[in-house]
Amino acid sequence: MKVRDEAADLREDLWDFVLAAAPLARSLTGNGVRRTLRLFPEELGLEIHEIPTGTEVLDWTVPREWNLERAWIRDPHGTTVVDTRDHLLHVVGYSTPIQTSISLGELQNHLHSLPDQPDLIPYRTSYYKETWGFCLPHRQREALMEGDYEVLIDSTLEPGALSYGEIFLPGAEDTEFLISTHVCHPAMANDNLSGIAVSLGLARILAAREDRRFGYRFVFVPGTLGSISWLARNRKTVGRIGHGLVAANLGDPGAFHYKRSRRGNATIDRAVERVLADRGLADHITDFVPFGYDERQYCSPGFDLPVGLLSRTPWGQYPQYHTSADDLDFISSQRLAESVSLYLDVIDVVEANRCYRNLAPHGEPQLGRRGLYRSLGGDDRGRERELALLWLLNLSDGDHDLLAIAERSNQAWDLLSEARDNLLAADLLEPLD
Ligand code: ZN
Repeated sequence: MKVRDEAADLREDLWDFVLAAAPLARSLTGNGVRRTLRLFPEELGLEIHEIPTGTEVLDWTVPREWNLERAWIRDPHGTTVVDTRDHLLHVVGYSTPIQTSISLGELQNHLHSLPDQPDLIPYRTSYYKETWGFCLPHRQREALMEGDYEVLIDSTLEPGALSYGEIFLPGAEDTEFLISTHVCHPAMANDNLSGIAVSLGLARILAAREDRRFGYRFVFVPGTLGSISWLARNRKTVGRIGHGLVAANLGDPGAFHYKRSRRGNATIDRAVERVLADRGLADHITDFVPFGYDERQYCSPGFDLPVGLLSRTPWGQYPQYHTSADDLDFISSQRLAESVSLYLDVIDVVEANRCYRNLAPHGEPQLGRRGLYRSLGGDDRGRERELALLWLLNLSDGDHDLLAIAERSNQAWDLLSEARDNLLAADLLEPLD
């Protein structure tokens, strides 16, 4: 796919970020999230918010903070079976600390593996139930010998805070565009380093723009509890969010997919549909379901924000999902740049979408007299351009915004944008607010 230069230019920087963030032990809370957020360039003005343990956030309570030093299992010969220094997925997230010697039978109660994917380490967490555990390839688990095993989980589960990051880039209007990505997964590349990297790229590009119509609010939150905390703290002002996207799964080789907001026909839904339809991906759009990522929280009925989920392959629909196979080889800097570029296409549609009024609505205005035919050219493209001019003139009655004109005429967005520019220059249209 064609990638905008401004996105392509960030390829190396985004990859450097991915490489730096990959080894950090992210979780629902803890230093891994903080260290990841501190990798952001200072000029973006990212603010790290800390919500103390025990704080009530909507119907939830911020839990104790979890930090991991190291975890390992040693077999009866003292040989290391698994070690988080080899792979962070080897420990169940939020495992309570333990150091003990136990039989294989007892240890089995604390092991997780994937019989259908016997060479992969699964990703497991236990945020709300106090327990401990290890994850390992099923093949390795089956080869464990009888006897006593040493286990160590050097972790802390103590009063602390839940951390999330926020960047705000003001715009000409009060309306805000929310881009939310989760930051709580350790070790895995597509879910969720790709979403963080793409959001970072967008923030850098949008920060450099001086003509932002909307304010852009980027939130980097631990999944579920992070967005719930953000909503709880911004309850009175979330009405400013006029458009929003949850960014995740944006580095894999799959095609783009969109899940609509709960509203289903919000401007963001229509804008993404237009961008995907123009790329032949109209059938990659699904309706809202109250399951998935943080759109579940933004689209809860009390908020009902216009926030959809724009990803490549949807979560859970690729075999590498939530396993050690979701590694750096599964994503690429090129695909991250493509995702940044596609998000910019959507953002530009939303920024440009408004209603116009035809200033010569009685009969068709003479396009030739105004030099508009000269811009058409005599080829097939010229016929399309003429039709785009006529559709715009016909539907610019103050009731149809540009997206509505694109939907009714089935004209490509690029063609309509060009026609709008020509009609504005010829004083045949005026923008309405
Ligand atoms: Zn996930």
